[in-house]
Parts: sequence; structure tokens; C-alpha cells
Amino acid sequence: MEISQPLEELDWIPRPKILALRRLGITTAENLLTHFPRRHEDRRFPREESDKPICLSGDVIKTSLRRFGGWKKIFEATLQEPDANALSQPLVCRWFNMHYIQKMIATGQQLVVFGKPRLRGNRICMEHPEFEVIENDEERSIHLRRITPIYPATEGLSQRVLRGIIYRLLQELDTEPIEPLLPDNLKTGDRGQAIRAIHFPETWKSLDAAREHLVLSEFFAMQMLIASRRSESHSKMSAAHSGRGELLEKFLRLLPFALTTAQETVIAEIRTDLEAGHPMNRLLQGDVGSGKTVVAIAAILLAVEAGYQSAFMAPTQILAEQHYAVLRRWLEPLGVKLSIRTAARQEESFLPLVEGDERADVIIGTHALLLEKVSFSNLGLVVIDEQHKFGVAQRARLTSREPAPDVLVMTATPIPRTITMTVYGDLDVSTLDEMPRGRGKIITAVRDSAKLGEVLSFLRKQLEAGRQIYVVYPLVEESEKLEAKAAAAEHERWRERLHPYTCELLHGRIGGPEKQEIMERFRRGQTSALISTTVIEVGVDVPNATVMLVENAERFGLAQLHQLRGRIGRGEHKSYCILLTSDPSSEAAEKLAVLEKTSDGFEVAEADWEMRGPGDLLGTAQSGLPALKIGNLKRDAELMQRARQAAISILSADPRLESLQNQRFQQLIVEQQGRTFSNVS
Ligand code: ADP
Ligand code: MG
Repeated sequence: MEISQPLEELDWIPRPKILALRRLGITTAENLLTHFPRRHEDRRFPREESDKPICLSGDVIKTSLRRFGGWKKIFEATLQEPDANALSQPLVCRWFNMHYIQKMIATGQQLVVFGKPRLRGNRICMEHPEFEVIENDEERSIHLRRITPIYPATEGLSQRVLRGIIYRLLQELDTEPIEPLLPDNLKTGDRGQAIRAIHFPETWKSLDAAREHLVLSEFFAMQMLIASRRSESHSKMSAAHSGRGELLEKFLRLLPFALTTAQETVIAEIRTDLEAGHPMNRLLQGDVGSGKTVVAIAAILLAVEAGYQSAFMAPTQILAEQHYAVLRRWLEPLGVKLSIRTAARQEESFLPLVEGDERADVIIGTHALLLEKVSFSNLGLVVIDEQHKFGVAQRARLTSREPAPDVLVMTATPIPRTITMTVYGDLDVSTLDEMPRGRGKIITAVRDSAKLGEVLSFLRKQLEAGRQIYVVYPLVEESEKLEAKAAAAEHERWRERLHPYTCELLHGRIGGPEKQEIMERFRRGQTSALISTTVIEVGVDVPNATVMLVENAERFGLAQLHQLRGRIGRGEHKSYCILLTSDPSSEAAEKLAVLEKTSDGFEVAEADWEMRGPGDLLGTAQSGLPALKIGNLKRDAELMQRARQAAISILSADPRLESLQNQRFQQLIVEQQGRTFSNVS
């Protein structure tokens, strides 16, 4: 039998089982052999109590039925270790009032049981363990090996059946080595061997080695796909979208501050991309407040000078409006024509986007709108702000446009390195790792809600000094009506607390134009306090605001709190992030303490990942990753790094995989193309 054999051709597998497997997408021997165990169990007899349920097997040497309390019954089966010695202790399994069990278990049988071992008197007992009766010697060697595989639960297939089928499959498999789909410098060894050992390892050590082989194979396949996408976009042709840079020079001279070194470096990287004859596909990472907008403007000006249109996509209307205001202030004096498109502003008279004198050079709008509704005359550059709200699929729609524009995606959510290598692995990465000088410090403090009084007098001092504050509260109500009501109550409370300072309310149910006005009044300093749900989360920039007070902070995620904190400390004043909580749990305390400890977004991201897992971290955006069968992004970060290096070096030396030793890798790319990717683990 070969590994590619369809299961249907194997007549020893019962048809209903084949159907059950097919429902899981398992149709070939290889599919089944790469249905990896979730974990393995050590099935030796216990010597002591344990709170962890364990699984073990033994021979039934005695059974008994006893009565207690009148009509109640206890059935006991005593198990002995298969190779019992003088020191072995039997294990007593007990079931209360389950009369049918005595019909299933008899002396002389072999049993596998699963439960918590407890000390009862001087006997080790299991109460109501799950159990299986083992029929014959072969089954014994499959199910009762010292290290036994446990598979992901599957409907219509018990562990025993699945284990049995896989065991037999491995026996029937030709013993010829299966070529690994790995370059030799990554890992040597036979793939077949690794597959055998991942299911039925002889020792824990051989299990580890097998796992490493298979994880590397999985990661390498993934990185080959990513690297090939990347080299494909590098091999595409596109016009150079960069002017000579005079417009950019003018802009920089007008800026009231000097660029940070990081900004200069990144602008140079982008400029090289714009000048190149293939499309740019670049990720700009920078913590909140690191000055990404200026970098985006620089890129836009280079494209505009070359005669191309640029699109600037923001995730929300508020941000689109804010970018529009900022860009107008800086770009209109340079003679650059701007236009905005948001749902709220559709009817207004726009500058036309087609050819002619009045054509807009820069179109600012929400992601959704610019993607769906706008046709451009000669789009040369697309800047996507706050990428994590923008799915991979949407990005692909932009990059597949003809002629291809240059694409710059910006994210303020620092991403753990392993994720950058995968989710954004097809992008070139630039990082703003330096904050502009002269920024006020941010102090973060966690406070018990009971201390609100002290906090309020602190807020008043800030307001008296002329500063402004944000108050953020979590959304508690699900329905729109209730939400508005809760918000109104919140507003009333804060108006009293902060009297006579003015405060306004912002929440999701307030319509677009009104929202703009509220933001604008706050920006101009007409309002002292902004009470809000997280609608102010990303990108909002009001340098005079120095306090971010978050109520029920434990309800927010770490990344989200870090974003909120990024709203302050944007001017020269010292700023304060106050996290109010009444949650006494250590989990909440541990989480919030991370923010007290560090203001570095990458550290926050790693901690967040540690606590929550990447699904949450990436939000609802499609992760764009193949579902991992065995590798774990967190635990196997170092293997991912190695796999990535190997893939990149192979593809850059031999982009079409034509050389003799690389031909076998072609299938990795062909096979994976067109699959829908999802699910990070
Ligand atoms: P983010 O990276 O979070 O989008 P912004 O681009 O909104 O940050 O910049 C935050 C603030 O810092 C803005 O007010 C911007 O004008 C200012 N800024 C940007 N670059 C510099 C710099 N090199 N020196 C001083 N201030 C800067
Ligand atoms: Mg920004």
C-alpha cells in the first residue's frame, strides 16, 4: 500500500467508518496518517492519588457486587497491571447503582479505564471511570502501549476504532522511506518514520523528534507558499510611482518638527519601492503615536508628483474625517487636491475622480467605500491605515488590480514576530521603532473603583490646568435602545462629577455628522471631557488630552487598552492612563499589571498573546493562514523562523523551483494554492 491510496480501496475498513472519515475530509491514507494525535497518554499504573484523570489498562482479577443502604449496590472490579510484580498495587474500579456494568465486565478481561485515582483506606480506587473492554492481543498492543495516541474527538468514530485503523494502516504501509518535503539543511530523516512515531512512539524522545519533523514540514510548506506569493508579486510589472521628490521636500520644510530617524529610514524604504518596476507590498508597523501619518503623506506626495492618484483608506468615518482634516492642512498649501468619500458624505459635491483639471490627487475614505464604490482614473498608491481591521482577502483584491498600485498597509497593533512572519509573511516590513522626541511621558495606574473620589480630584486638577480628558466605559447593553439609555445615564453621572467643566458623549448610536461635530469640538478644546465607548479607539489625535480614564478596565483586551492609552501622551504634557477596576480576580490584576509595567506595544502584544491566543489578537480579520494541523505558532516560534529562512533562500535562488533538488517542492505551492485559509492555533 502507498501513502496516497484512497481509503475506499482498502476493504478492511468498514464502510460506515469510511463515510465518517470522509465527513472530516479524510479520504486517503495520507489524510488519515496526518490526522495527528492531540496528545499522548502514559498508561502506567498509579501509585498515588491524582487530580488529573489518567488512563491505564489492566487485567480484571476479581469482581464483586455489594449492597449498601438497603437497595443500593456497588459494583467493584479489581485490576492488576499486565506485568505485575511484588510491588504492584491493584486498582479498584467502583460503580454505584449502575447495574448494567456488571454485565459488561468479567474476571479475565482486559480493561482500559480513565478516571482520577483516589486513595480509599489503603486502596487506590477509581470511581465511575470511563472504560473499554479490550478484545484480543492485537488490540492490546495498539491501545495499551505505554504511550498511546489520543485523537481529536470525531463523531461516529471512537478513539479505539480510529486508533485501530491507523495502526493497521501503518502496518500495511510499504516500508520504503517516504521522501520528506523538507530541504536537507532544515531537517533530515524519513517522513514515514516521523509519521509512524507521531502515532505510536516507542519513547517520549522519539515522539518529540517526530513532532519536530512534522511541524517543520508544515511550517516549511506554509512558508514556501508565502514566499512564492511574495516572489510572484515581485515579478509582476508595474509603473514606477515616484516623482523626483521636490514636493516631498517642500512638505518637510513646512513641517513644524524634524522627522525621527526611524521615519527617515522608512520613507527611504518606501521610496525605493515606489521607484521599482514591481508593485510595493509593504507593512508599516509602528506603535500608536510613532508618526505613521507623516510617512504615509510622504509616500502620497511622491506618487502625486509622478502624476498618480493615491487612496487613503481608514477603518472608520471618524478617522477618515480626521485624516482628511490633517491632510488638507498640510497638502492644500502645496497645491494637492483632496477629496473625501464616506457613507455620511456621499451626497456632497465631490471633486470628480476622472481625468481633467479638477481631478483629485488624493481620495480619503473608509476601507469599505473606497473598495466598493470608487473607480479611480490612475491609481498609483493605496495606503491602508489600521490594517488589522482589513482582511487579507480585501488586500488581495487591491493587489490583483490592473495596473497594480503600490500598497502600503499601516498597523498600530504591534504583532508578535511569529505572526508577522505568517499572517503578513508576504509583505515587506518596515518598522517605526522610535517615538518622536518631546513627547510627554505616560503614567499608567490601576485603581480600585472604590477610589473614584481620589481619582476625580486628580481629574479636576488636570482640567484646571487646561487639559482635556477621555473617559471610556465598556459597552454593557446589547440592544441599541438600551445602549443609548446606558450612555445617557453615564453622561449625566459624569456631567455632575466634573461640573462645571463641559463634557460630551460619544457612542456608536450617534450618527456620522453629529459624531464629527462632537469630535471637532473636543479637538478645538471647546469640550473638556469626552465620555465614550471605544469608538475613539484608533487613531484619534488630540495632543491637549492628557488623561485616559477607563472604567471596568478588566473587560477590555490588553491590545485594546494599549490602543486607548495611545490616545494620550501626544503633546508635550505628562499624561495619565487610569484603569479603574472592581474585579478582584488575579487574572484581571495580572492583565492590567502588564500595562503598568510597560508602554512598549510589542511587549504588550506578546503578553496579550500569552494570555489570550492569536485569534483574539487578530480580531475578526481573516488571518489568511492555513489551518495548522500540528504546529503551534506560539510554542514553535523558533521552528517557524527556521522554516521561513529556508523557504526564502530556496525561492530567491531558484524562483521557479527548476533545479533537480527543488523540483519536489513545486507540489507544495501548487497543492496549497486556492485553498481558503483560516483558523490560527
Ligand atoms: P500614529 O502612528 O499613531 O498614526 P500619528 O501619525 O497620528 O501617529 O502621529 C502622532 C502625532 O505625532 C501627530 O500629532 C503628529 O503630527 C506628530 N508627529 C509625527 N511625527 C513627528 C515627529 N517626527 N516629531 C514630532 N511630532 C511628530
Ligand atoms: Mg494613525
